[in-house]
Parts: sequence; C-alpha cells; structure tokens
Amino acid sequence: MRESQAQHPPWGDFMCVPPEEGVRVFQTTGTTGIPVKVMLNKMDWTVHFYEQFMHFMCGYGIKPSDILFVPFGYSLYIAWWGFQAALEQAGVMIVPGGAQSSQDRIKNIFEWGATVVCGTPTYLLHLGETGLRMGMPLAGSKVKIVVAAGEPGANVRATKLAIQELWGAKCYDDIGSSEISNFGFECIVQKGTHVIESMFYAECLDPDTLKPVAPGEVGELVLSNLCTETMPLLRYRIKDLVRFNFDRCECGRTFLRLDGGILGRSDDMFQFAGVNIFPSAIENLIRQVPEFSNEYQIVIPKFGSGKHIRIRVEPASSEITKEGMTQAVKGFIENFKYRITVTPDVEIAEMGELPRFELKAKRLIRED
Ligand SMILES: [Zn+2]
Repeated sequence: MRESQAQHPPWGDFMCVPPEEGVRVFQTTGTTGIPVKVMLNKMDWTVHFYEQFMHFMCGYGIKPSDILFVPFGYSLYIAWWGFQAALEQAGVMIVPGGAQSSQDRIKNIFEWGATVVCGTPTYLLHLGETGLRMGMPLAGSKVKIVVAAGEPGANVRATKLAIQELWGAKCYDDIGSSEISNFGFECIVQKGTHVIESMFYAECLDPDTLKPVAPGEVGELVLSNLCTETMPLLRYRIKDLVRFNFDRCECGRTFLRLDGGILGRSDDMFQFAGVNIFPSAIENLIRQVPEFSNEYQIVIPKFGSGKHIRIRVEPASSEITKEGMTQAVKGFIENFKYRITVTPDVEIAEMGELPRFELKAKRLIRED
C-alpha cells in the first residue's frame, strides 16, 4: 500500500471509488514506516462503520442512556473518531475530551458524569494513576465501562485487572486498524475477543509458510473485509498474532473468538537465547508486581553481545522502601526465569523517569 501510494500519490492504485466520493480521511500512525493514507466514502463511514461499532456497543453493554467521555486529541489518526460518530448516531451522549491535560480530563469525567471512557491501555492506566495522585480516584466516578484499543494491553490479563481496579469498571478490548477497519470486540463475558464474521473473513496462518495453523495454535491474523466500498482489502496481513477459538461463547454469540485478544505483533516478537519472546508476556509479569508502576522498558541487547535482556521499571509510589523494591525485583526475576526461561537484568529508574504515552506506547528498545 505504501509503495502504491508513493508511485501513484496520494491514494495509490487500490481505491475502488473516485476521490470525489470520499467523506473522511485518515492516515496510519506510521510506526513501521511512511503512513498509509486511508479514505472512506459516505457508505463506509455512516453505514459500515456504524454497523461495526454497533457490534462493539452491544458487546460492551453500552446503552443509549450512557455518557461517553473521549479523552483524545483528534487528528489524522483514526482512533475514536469512528467509535464516537457511531455511538452518537446510536443515541449515546458524547463529552469531547480533546485538548485537555490529564488533570482536566479527570475533573471533567466527574463533572459531566461520564459512564464510559475509551483510550489506549497505557493512557487509561496513566489517567487512573493521575486520579489517585489528585485525590480523585476514578473508581469513585460513575464510569462503569472502559474501552481499550491501540495496544495488546486490554487483553494482557494483569493489565486488564490493573485498569479495572484503578477505574472500578469493566475493561473491554476493542480492535481494528486504520487500513482494515474495526473487526474485533470483547463481550461482557470477557472470554476472548469476537471477530465480526458477518463483515470480515478471518484466517490464522503460519507467518512463514502462509499455511493455516492447527486449531488452537498461534498464527498471524489475515483478514478480508467483506463489505467496504472504498478500499476493500483481501487477505490483508495485519501482522497481529492470535489464537482462534470456534466454540460457542457463553454470551450466545457464535462469532469466532481470539483467545487472549491480540497476543502480540509478529514483527514485535523477538528471539533471545533461542526463545521466542512476546513483549506482552513480559508486560503481564511486570503488571503483577504491585511495587512496580505501570511503566516499563524492555531493552534487547545486540545479538552476540553476551548481555542479558534489561527490564527498566520504576517504583509505584514514594512509600516503597529501597528494601521493598529489592525484594520485589528478586521475586520478579525468579518469576521471569520460570515463565520466560531467560534471566533478565532489572534496572530501577526514578519515579516518573520512564516516558509516558498518550497514543501507542513504545517500550521495546533494540540496541545496535
Ligand atoms: Zn461472547
């Protein structure tokens, strides 16, 4: 898509409607290269996106009487634009939370009586921690549903539990991409992320051979969008790793589920000491340690350097003693060795030293 748009700017040669039909444009975040430009015509934006988000809305149990706070600065990035547009069409009241500091957003969540809030898992954790520091814990607000998207976190068990505790609310996984649109939502049973199979055809393939993997095995998700008019993508590799579950869900839906949601990106997975390691598995271990804050970094040393993987963490609060932190690190290393089968070095950063992110977090550092 990037190549096609570079050769035939601005839209490339894969659009199926003329640009005059476009009503809404986006571009990808470009974390893996030059951004891809995305266009939607009126049918895709007002009918297909609406239908996709109605599956999400029903899955999460959001009602027209709910009040959605959107803590997001609107830009060319697609996040929450479509979600907001569809939910307001469905009768939900929207409170715009763009162009505000995190502190102001928290005050507004209380003041406007928001019952639903959306964000990346990282930002939802950050808002939760900020609320605690301000003496306005979000668990005391009216919010009962938080919707998390943009990173695998919402289905990393420890992260989901941390968000739910900070917000006193249920946290649901929401997945999609700018290119393929919105295909996955978690239902109230919270046992995997459903794929909207009436609108998407999903395959789970071995990333190297592109042959289907055995049922229950991890593979790369490949999607065909069955209903878009503007840029229908067939067998699109979104580089996300998933595990299919075809059993009927307790919620009654028969749509396929992704067990554990997105398990990681095939290009994020790294090999170290002969072991395939998913950053999300490390995140799960970090978020189980109450002495650690929710921020972390994973530093992968250069191949053959003889160094260990380095995990940088920081204390969750100033009340944690040096002794307490040392004990927590010791326990973490033991757990890491047992679960990941590799020995890490752990560095303790100062409180607040590690970078915070409002959009997609970048926590994986590869040393040259
Ligand atoms: Zn279900």
